Amino acid sequence: MQKEKLYGKTINELIAVTRRVGLPGFAAKQITDWLYKKEIQSIQEMTNLSKKMRDLLSDDYEIGLSSPVSVAESSDGTKKYLYKVLNNKYIETAYIPDNDHATLCLSVQVGCKMGCSFCMTGKQGFQGNLSSNEILNQFRSLPEFKNISNIVYMGMGEPLDNLSEVLKSLEILTNDWGYGWSPTRVTVSTVGLINGIKEFLEKSNCHFAVSLNSPFDEERKKLMPVQITNSVNEVLEIIRNFSFNNQRRVSFEYILFKGMNDSPRHINELARILNGIKCRINIISFHPFSGSSFQSPDMTTTINFKEALNAKGILTTIRASRGLDIQAACGLLSTLEQNKA
Ligand code: SF4
Repeated sequence: MQKEKLYGKTINELIAVTRRVGLPGFAAKQITDWLYKKEIQSIQEMTNLSKKMRDLLSDDYEIGLSSPVSVAESSDGTKKYLYKVLNNKYIETAYIPDNDHATLCLSVQVGCKMGCSFCMTGKQGFQGNLSSNEILNQFRSLPEFKNISNIVYMGMGEPLDNLSEVLKSLEILTNDWGYGWSPTRVTVSTVGLINGIKEFLEKSNCHFAVSLNSPFDEERKKLMPVQITNSVNEVLEIIRNFSFNNQRRVSFEYILFKGMNDSPRHINELARILNGIKCRINIISFHPFSGSSFQSPDMTTTINFKEALNAKGILTTIRASRGLDIQAACGLLSTLEQNKA
């Protein structure tokens, strides 16, 4: 029988485990220390639990960490790790070092239901949700684990479509009994699922990003079918009515596509719909993949787009393109690996 994994459980879940196994309640806090503050690989290393307690726990549970199966390394230092999950499926995790800090981009699902037309992961279709164990294992089992300064939930899958496991992983990252990270080191990005946004905003203090890509309804529907049932106007309404604390950041991601969403008309409409929202726009380069007809505009167009938005009072930045020589498009590596398997 497969043992249940302890890593990825919240303190309340661990209290339930201690009850089930017949351990004293205080053991749950000791177990969180071992799981999230020390780097143990087995229950037998939990040396402040008695041998009898460790044996009881080991009967049904294991720590549940697993190393990546492969890595592709870019000449710019970006690394893409592949982890095996859910019986022969693969997910990608991108490690992006930048001077004195490093960002980790986590996946939350195998494939994705959202079907964004510019995304390779969307083309895989949906193959399953990751558990909080599998989400956080991408962080904990990374060889560069200790170097990571920021985490973004922007890899494969839609975080708000796997909200309960994503919230658990955020709870572990940001609570004192877990990793104790400031929520400002973590950004969760969504296409804008109305049903999940309020719950996410209320239950977490992490930064919030919405993948926007066009301010126009019909255009956005073509890029992101989610717009048909979850219009960006409703998303903006929720954001307008939510009271964000000063530290919490709202941003909008905007992938620039040549000749599609890079005109002055788009700039004016972006300024109109975002009016009154304290936010920033991150312009992201499109990472091409075979079979896709999208193209990126040249750098001059990109810089002009950014400056025009800044001139309209919307803080706008261009996110540097990284890892282009290692299949940077999200979902490419895992698709190749799955095809091999
Ligand atoms: S861009 Fe994100 S939400 Fe859209 S299909 Fe790809 S993984 Fe899913």
